[in-house]
Amino acid sequence: MVIYKFGGASVKNPEGVENLKNILVSRNEAGVMVLSAFGKTTNQLEELVQHIHRHDRQAFDDRLRQIKDYHWQIMDALFDEKDPVREVAGGYFLQLQEAFDHHREDYDFLYDQVICTGELLSTSIVSAYLNRAGVNCRWVDVRNCLITDDLYREARVDWLQTQPLVEDVFQAAPGEVILTQGFIGGTRAGWSTSLGREGSDYTAAILANILNASQVVIWKDVPGVLNADPRFFSGAEKLEKISYHEALELSYYGAKIIHPKTIKPLQNKGIPLNVRSFIEPEQPGTWISTQEAYDGDKPIYILKPRQVLISILPKDFSFVVEERLSKIYGLFAKHRLQVNMMQNSALNFTVCLDEHPRKVEQLMEDLKKEFRVLYNKNLQLITVRHYNDKVLDSIQQGRSVLVEQRSRHTAQFLMESSDRYIEGS
Ligand code: ADP
Ligand code: ASP
Ligand code: MG
Repeated sequence: MVIYKFGGASVKNPEGVENLKNILVSRNEAGVMVLSAFGKTTNQLEELVQHIHRHDRQAFDDRLRQIKDYHWQIMDALFDEKDPVREVAGGYFLQLQEAFDHHREDYDFLYDQVICTGELLSTSIVSAYLNRAGVNCRWVDVRNCLITDDLYREARVDWLQTQPLVEDVFQAAPGEVILTQGFIGGTRAGWSTSLGREGSDYTAAILANILNASQVVIWKDVPGVLNADPRFFSGAEKLEKISYHEALELSYYGAKIIHPKTIKPLQNKGIPLNVRSFIEPEQPGTWISTQEAYDGDKPIYILKPRQVLISILPKDFSFVVEERLSKIYGLFAKHRLQVNMMQNSALNFTVCLDEHPRKVEQLMEDLKKEFRVLYNKNLQLITVRHYNDKVLDSIQQGRSVLVEQRSRHTAQFLMESSDRYIEGS
């Protein structure tokens, strides 16, 4: 059993959906296919949630109209006027409309009830298209099988409950392709949940683990895993093979190519992951598997934009030692903020976090009760794995570095954001 995952970029327009079909038909190997929402739909749905929360009817109506127009435009190109898929899509649009009137105040709960619509729409439309094109495609609502807890927006999988349900529902008959939604799940009580932004890769890995898949293929708009994000680094080169270990480190430090939770379920069962291009599908892409170590000699660059640096100082000139550190870490956990880098001295504890507007503000309020707090915004964190002196010099050239750290394989620089390209080695 091979599992395919197609992300939003691959299905951002009707040509993308057609290309997906061509890849599926010509390779004829996928038993299960996991799909994200079309294009940037999830971002638009996030805005919709904010408008609902603020009771802003005008902004809500405008945004909903754009979401609908976008999906109608894709359907118009792929289906005739009377196709029943239009009714299915209309039903989801109605649910979005109703969310404005029937919302609950709990933001994260509301978010998940709305956000799941992106994947439900895309999979319904693509499934209908594939069936019209002669592919035997079965649509599955993953919320009934991928059972999670109710930590909305970051729901955790209940593997014990999920396993038998997935085994039961995801048995593909010969020639059948099962199409389902990435990124979302459901609670036992039947509410929708989501696994964290960009979580469709993780869904593919969960299903692969339970179904003992022979491989997972993630189709991207890049040739594979490169040694840097080509949007920010010039001269990025493809990595042929990397270990699970290296892939996990890369995603941990913020490489946007794979969701960080994807690797564990695959590593645990030794299932290889192939990242390859939907633009040049015949090219081999990158293989991620059990090799022990990174076998390449290229430095790997990872850029994490939108960082904030917070310095936490005692009000009474007392040391920031273990007990206080554990209190501070307790606050990071409470606000569900991940520390990307830290440094401490006797009277100063400094951390770099993602600039998550609501969470960081709430954290600062809590910290200020006991500490003096200073912060810098608009920063970026550059991590270099397998560095050498030459690449570190070129990164720092002309940039003001606020914090720097090095270990044997990894160097990190927190610096002011800039739109300038970083030159590769
Ligand atoms: P999806 O359509 O699956 O959601 P994404 O847009 O999330 O795809 O991921 C693909 C993008 O990831 C690429 O267009 C590229 O800009 C970015 N990216 C970041 N780091 C890397 C890397 N190391 N190698 C390749 N692409 C990367
Ligand atoms: N559609 C979701 C997102 O944009 C999940 C994904 O694409 O993986 O975050
Ligand atoms: Mg994505």
